[in-house]
Amino acid sequence: MSFCIKKLVSLLFQATTSNIIEPFLQRGFRKASDFYNPNMLLQTLRLKTFNSADSMINHFITNPRLRQVLSFQTLYIGISPKTGPSLYTIIPMIEWLYGVWFIKGGMYAMASGMKRLFLELGGQICCQKTVEEVLIADQVAKGIKLADQTVIQSDFVIVNADFPYAMKHLVTDKKAKGKYTDDKIDQMSYSCSCFVLYLGLNRKYDQVKNVHNFVFSNDLDDNISAIFEGKLLEDPSFYVYMASKLDPSLAPSDKDGVYLLTPVPDLETAQYDWTDKTTTYYRQRLVDGLKKVPGFETVEEDIVCETAMTPPDFLKRFNAYRGACFGLQPTLTQSNHLTPQSKAKNCERLYFTGSSTHPGAGVPIVLLSAKIAVDELLLDDLGIEPQPLSI
Ligand SMILES: Cc1cc2nc3c(=O)[nH]c(=O)nc-3n(C[C@H](O)[C@H](O)[C@H](O)COP(=O)(O)OP(=O)(O)OC[C@H]3O[C@@H](n4cnc5c(N)ncnc54)[C@H](O)[C@@H]3O)c2cc1C
Repeated sequence: MSFCIKKLVSLLFQATTSNIIEPFLQRGFRKASDFYNPNMLLQTLRLKTFNSADSMINHFITNPRLRQVLSFQTLYIGISPKTGPSLYTIIPMIEWLYGVWFIKGGMYAMASGMKRLFLELGGQICCQKTVEEVLIADQVAKGIKLADQTVIQSDFVIVNADFPYAMKHLVTDKKAKGKYTDDKIDQMSYSCSCFVLYLGLNRKYDQVKNVHNFVFSNDLDDNISAIFEGKLLEDPSFYVYMASKLDPSLAPSDKDGVYLLTPVPDLETAQYDWTDKTTTYYRQRLVDGLKKVPGFETVEEDIVCETAMTPPDFLKRFNAYRGACFGLQPTLTQSNHLTPQSKAKNCERLYFTGSSTHPGAGVPIVLLSAKIAVDELLLDDLGIEPQPLSI
């Protein structure tokens, strides 16, 4: 790597850690002055975050295809590049500078690793239990009630279910909701949803070289507008991922698996009801689109098993409010101190984490929200001041 490129990478890295990660992503905003102070306002101005991602990229890049390659990545967190703050150009920057990393065994390996660590630390995990209510008395969290009516009392409660769903359905105490009334929850802006198709293929796809592939709609702008206007997508863009190329253990030895993902409207924005016919419709659009990609011409006849995840699945299986896969949209008015914070404002000993809380969606960012929740709890319980992660 030449000296100039090394220097550029190092400058961008420093800019990322000092301007974004520490002040914006690694801390909660308990009170207004945590955001409205000279240092934070200076950092905000330096980030020039009042533009949209689209306008920021268009300012520097003229080639239309290159613009699309860089700007569509705000869809990774469920927001259009036209409305997503320019801050989110950090996503292509990180991808281009640091690459895309794969955990052997897939994301499940990360969940298993966290489970192992939690158990080693003395934690206890209950699976297949549905929480029905956060028990609150005099604006202090006291524990939880499960759907089978078991009551578990506790000193603190951290809620990881999607914040809008949790505030609406798990926190029933009106005073504890504070400003997050049911009406307020309904009026907030939500990210898009996704349709995901998993295909098991009856042979190896050696002719396909890339693990990550993007197939763009003929009119990407129109496609993105249609997602956020709730239209049925006629020519959807989609992502094609062949994890078994990186980790052969993910498919039988003479076969491959493919994962297709397309962003679609969330269930409230959609101008149609999602039925089995809708699933069949999107499934066919994706398979037809994939058949046009060199190397995948025979994909339809090679399918030996398949399964799909739809917006109603995200709603029913994970309580993702409106089936919006990435929680609240990170618009400027729903970011930083303006988005739900980890520490409940109107209830003691209650904390939230997850993609609809600060700092937002995506696995690494959600893990930062978990760290913020723990920091807030430790500050309240033991007076321990939060320490930034060393990166
Ligand atoms: C298709 C798709 C692809 C993605 N790809 C990437 C990617 O490549 N990289 C990346 O960084 N991010 C990706 N993301 C985003 C990332 O997965 C999410 O931002 C992240 O998982 C959100 O974590 P969370 O803890 O907030 O929510 P979740 O992971 O949904 O966890 C919340 C949990 O709470 C449980 N729960 C809800 N209600 C209750 C209840 N009442 N009782 C008990 N349990 C309850 C749910 O079942 C769920 O298990 C993707 C998301 C989707 C949908």
